[in-house]
Amino acid sequence: MSHELDILPLEEWCNEGRQPLYISGPCSAETEEQTLATAKQIEALGKVKVFRAGVWKPRTRPNSFEGMGEVALKWLQTVKSMTSLKTATEVAQPKHVELALKYGVDMLWIGARTVVNPFSVQEIADSLKGVDIPVMVKNPLNPDVSLWLGALERINQSGIKKLMAIHRGFDFLKRSPYRNAPMWEVPIELKRRVPKLPIIVDPSHIAGKRDLLFDVAQRALDLDMNGLMIESHINPDKAYTDAAQQLTPESLGAMIDQLVVRRQKGNYDFQHKLEEYRSEIDKLDGVLIETLAQRFKIIDEVGEYKKNNNIAIYQVKRWSNILMDRVENGETQGINKEFLLKVLQLVHKESILRQSKKYKE
Ligand code: PEP
Ligand code: MN
Repeated sequence: MSHELDILPLEEWCNEGRQPLYISGPCSAETEEQTLATAKQIEALGKVKVFRAGVWKPRTRPNSFEGMGEVALKWLQTVKSMTSLKTATEVAQPKHVELALKYGVDMLWIGARTVVNPFSVQEIADSLKGVDIPVMVKNPLNPDVSLWLGALERINQSGIKKLMAIHRGFDFLKRSPYRNAPMWEVPIELKRRVPKLPIIVDPSHIAGKRDLLFDVAQRALDLDMNGLMIESHINPDKAYTDAAQQLTPESLGAMIDQLVVRRQKGNYDFQHKLEEYRSEIDKLDGVLIETLAQRFKIIDEVGEYKKNNNIAIYQVKRWSNILMDRVENGETQGINKEFLLKVLQLVHKESILRQSKKYKE
């Protein structure tokens, strides 16, 4: 099946030149003051073109802040009239689309939790028939490039030609430092399949915390992505949602200043393969660490057991058996004997240390 999206190039409807498109604003529009003050400070940076703010928030659990709804659309209208920024918000239902259009929101995006459901995407697509508005489609929660592309196709088939994808990472690798694993090979594969499709990256939802934002943002630019959506808030620590990942507009400006925009265009086949390898390595490192943690957990239990039965921690015979067995196993799998010995000795040393602590408890 071919993926011929009938879309307009980004430069024709949004961005001049090859500068990255910057979108920023709070995770949620909380109050009129917070929304307006954030927008004004963002505008003053002179770098951001579009103001984002969540009006309906898809929360994991009930009874948390679920967005201000329609009243917040009025605040976005004020942002539009009082600043030079365009406005954007998330829509998850036809009703949201209807209201966002009523209040003149300039751009819409479909969130990761909605994109996983083709029925919901189709309903949104149907509600967009005959409307000329830019739509951004976030990746689904799971790393499925076809599901992501399918959502883009549904929106496109409703006649939306100002179309863009947003990479916000995947709810996949629990033991990575990120809130959502970037798995860069997935957006690269999307770009490879549909080279003309603009893709921007959302470092905020990938990183989940402020100190990882810069690296994710720089990586996005290094991979020739078309822009960044970054959450910002006048008082991030007090934000109702996603407090740990939002920046003040001032820090956002400083961060954008530090980012390096590369000139070289990516070869997507090469990048895709490379990122696939890197993701595999990330996963295996996760497995290594998890396995070590499990081993130490059992070591602790054995320590407890030995202590309760008054048995010596160190048992020479068992250790030499372990060494012989493991080194032999490693050698048959192409692992250097000296290297494996060092690793095993380190693990053994740490295990004895943990068990000795048990004896002191
Ligand atoms: C958001 O942009 O605030 C949001 C809810 O994002 P996502 O759909 O990527 O989780
Ligand atoms: Mn958010």
